[in-house]
Amino acid sequence: GTQAAKLVKEFGLTQISTGDLFRKAHREQTSIGVISDYFSKFGRLVPDDFTNEMVYDYLKENMNNFGNGFILDGYPRTILQARELEYFEESLGFKIDAVINLDVDFDVLKKRLSGRRTCKNCGATFHIMYKPPKVEGVCDNCGGELYQREDETEAAVKVRLSTYEGQTRPLIDYYKMKGMLTNINGDQSMDDVYSDIK
Ligand code: AMP
Repeated sequence: GTQAAKLVKEFGLTQISTGDLFRKAHREQTSIGVISDYFSKFGRLVPDDFTNEMVYDYLKENMNNFGNGFILDGYPRTILQARELEYFEESLGFKIDAVINLDVDFDVLKKRLSGRRTCKNCGATFHIMYKPPKVEGVCDNCGGELYQREDETEAAVKVRLSTYEGQTRPLIDYYKMKGMLTNINGDQSMDDVYSDIK
């Protein structure tokens, strides 16, 4: 999310975060929002059918408004989603150029996720140690209230990491075999990660 936001700013891209789309749907209490929250709050993935349908609808509706292109942030997260994305490419007429894998040690990830605070209003993210807001609990961008996401508590992070192991890690080999994968060492400062991605 952090790196995608930087790329968007510099290169005129659009960030499509499935997590943000689910959270927005939940705020609006649409049926997909109610369903997805049931899975997300425990750190589990939303079932593929719901996720794929939401991404397809979003892409189809916004295809002409993506500026210089788009970054899918947090999608695909399963092999079935990756397959479905290939179908979307064909039917909507776009091409994914590259897949970026941010490689971060699990212990580091646990610290990053459980220290993260998100703005209720604009969705900006901070970290109590690595990127603290100027005023505790208050968003630097819009003055909104910062909170800890339910899926970023220690218990939920544990489930998320084991879900990652089982369902998402296989995508690394999948995209390696297709020659699309770029591995980035995510165990560096935000700026160094960014310059490697660029
Ligand atoms: P994120 O903001 O990317 O960490 O996503 C938050 C939560 O939304 C995840 O823990 C999942 O429950 C759900 N989610 C986001 N993207 C996906 C996806 N591609 N497939 C299934 N669930 C997802």
